[in-house]
Amino acid sequence: MKTKYCLLFLIFFFIGCTTVPITGRSQFLLTTEAEEAAMGATAYGQYLAESKISTDKDNTALVKKVGQKIAAVSGYNYDWEFNLLENDEANAWCLPGGKVAVYTGILPYTQTEEGLATVMAHEIAHAIARHGAEGNMQSALLQEGLQLLSSSLNNKSNQKDIMTAATILGNVGIILPYSRKHESEADYIGLILMARAGYDPYKAIEFWERMSQAHSGQQDIISKFLSTHPSDAKRIKDLQSHLREALIIYNTSKERYIK
Ligand SMILES: [Zn+2]
Repeated sequence: MKTKYCLLFLIFFFIGCTTVPITGRSQFLLTTEAEEAAMGATAYGQYLAESKISTDKDNTALVKKVGQKIAAVSGYNYDWEFNLLENDEANAWCLPGGKVAVYTGILPYTQTEEGLATVMAHEIAHAIARHGAEGNMQSALLQEGLQLLSSSLNNKSNQKDIMTAATILGNVGIILPYSRKHESEADYIGLILMARAGYDPYKAIEFWERMSQAHSGQQDIISKFLSTHPSDAKRIKDLQSHLREALIIYNTSKERYIK
C-alpha cells in the first residue's frame, strides 16, 4: 500500500513536474505535450466537422492574423490553428496544442482588433499553460485516491492506509476548484502576450468592461463564457494591477515594430 502511495508521488516528480510560462508556477502533469496536442487535434477536427465555419472573409482573416501574431510571441511552436465559427454564443476556446475557435457571437463585444486580441491571447494562454491537461491530471488524482480508499476499506485492519487515502482525497478536494485560478492565470498571461504582440493592454480592460455591461443585460447569451470565470469586478481589478508591467512590454514591443 505504502509502495503504491510513494509510486504516485514519484510519477509526479519524475514525469510530470513542469513550469507554467510567464508566471513560473509549478504544475504536475501526467501527459506529455505531444500526447495532449494529438488529443487536441483529433477533438478539434471532429468539432470543426460538426460546426459551421464562418463565411465572413474579413473577420475570418482578422481572427487568423491576430492569432498568428500572438502565437508568434508565445514562445511555443505549436501547430497553431485559428477558426471563426458561426455561433451566436459569445465564446471562444482553445484545445491543447494550439487549436483555437472564436464564435461570431463574441465579435459584437470584441469590436476592434485589440478587443479580439484580448480574447485570443487569453485562449492562447490557456494552451501554453496547459490548463486542460492540469484539469485532467486532477481527475486522475481523484480516481487514484478513490481506488486507494476503496481497497483500504476492503481491508479494515489497516486503519493507517485508510487515513492515507483520506488525506489524498482531502488534498484533492482543496486543489480541484482550479478553473477560476486558471482563468485568472490566463488573464495575466494573455495580457503579457498581447503586449508582446504590440496590442495596447489597456484595451483588455475596455473589453472586459463591455462584457461586464452585457453580462448584466443579456446573461443567457454570455453566461457560458463567464460561468467559470472570476467576477467581472475582480477580473478588471486584477488586470489593472498587471497593467504597468504589461505597458512596459507594450512600449518596448511597439518600438520593435516601428523599426
Ligand atoms: Zn478562460
